[in-house]
Amino acid sequence: GFKMGIVGLPNVGKSTLFNALTKTAAAQAANFPFCTIEPNVGEVAVPDTRLDTLADIAKSKQIIPARMTFVDIAGLVKGASRGEGLGNQFLANIRECDAIAHVLRCFEDDDVTHVDGRVDPVADADTIETELMLADLESVEKRIAGLSRKVRGGDKEAVQQERLLKQARAALEDGRPARTVEVAEDDAKAWRMLQLLTAKPILFVCNVSEAEAATGNAHSDAVADMAAKQGAGTVVISAQIEEEIAQLDADEAREFLEELGLEQAGLDRLIQAGYQLLGLQTYFTVGPKEARAWTIPNGTTAPKAAGVIHGDFERGFIRAETTAYDDYVSLGGEAGAKDAGKMRVEGKSYVVKDGDVMHFLFNA
Ligand code: GDP
Repeated sequence: GFKMGIVGLPNVGKSTLFNALTKTAAAQAANFPFCTIEPNVGEVAVPDTRLDTLADIAKSKQIIPARMTFVDIAGLVKGASRGEGLGNQFLANIRECDAIAHVLRCFEDDDVTHVDGRVDPVADADTIETELMLADLESVEKRIAGLSRKVRGGDKEAVQQERLLKQARAALEDGRPARTVEVAEDDAKAWRMLQLLTAKPILFVCNVSEAEAATGNAHSDAVADMAAKQGAGTVVISAQIEEEIAQLDADEAREFLEELGLEQAGLDRLIQAGYQLLGLQTYFTVGPKEARAWTIPNGTTAPKAAGVIHGDFERGFIRAETTAYDDYVSLGGEAGAKDAGKMRVEGKSYVVKDGDVMHFLFNA
């Protein structure tokens, strides 16, 4: 599954948000028991009303949503990368994430201490980014040094890695995160394998007060401006509202959100923003036994999509019976879609579309 790391300075609301998100998911996805893997790792069901609609039509016994993992990564403070350096566990935690949700304090509250004594989310973002860049720079230097023998020996992979590391170093020395480096298609995989902290896609999560959840405030506007300049995403959330929602059942939560002028809970918006950030989409498998959502990157071909279910599906892929979500719903399910000629038979080169209902045929 995809993994989102939650980072931020102390006292910005990370834990509040993490706890609320995971509790809300537990309360609202009765079919998918939320599981806490470790105290700071939670798996949540990806909310998608299309899945319920499909399950209704097919009378599926079970509904299995896609999943996303959140990791609460505490321990980032100013100067963290100096001295002892960022802890290994801490770095490993971030490295393993596909994307970073950076929580920024956008609420004023004299009772909650700010580590730097003032509310300034843009400066806070800079503080954290600086620590991550310093950590990256250190690891890049080490790795360049470690590669030198192999590079001299003409090892092709090492040469590629060194070239990419040097590009990263140039950006970092210039005070820019590694994600600003433009990477050629051929280098994309090797680049990802470097697992640089500041190369990860980032989403700024503005934690505002309850009253400002629907509108945002001057602080979150400033963050949105900064994010737009870096090509990053922004989500405005009130961690306190999320905490309250976590105590409610699905109907009560909907009413509460309406009262606040919100269309969706923060969890939904955060996950949606995460999907967008990571270029992810969903396809479905639907039958009487279960209706299930699967997550794939945009542009995934049918065999690769099948491989998300099981490696054998990809290796033995023959074809995929495919029905667009809208057709499946308007024609009342698989049989109706087939009669209307809307169930297509697609081959190996088919690029799966968001919402496709797929049925894979494969050689075992
Ligand atoms: P962390 O250190 O980033 O994990 O921060 P916490 O989640 O522990 O929150 C720090 C303090 O800020 C706690 O006392 C929270 O109750 C409080 N807090 C979190 N979000 C909000 C908010 O939106 N408004 C206000 N007023 N307080 C908040």
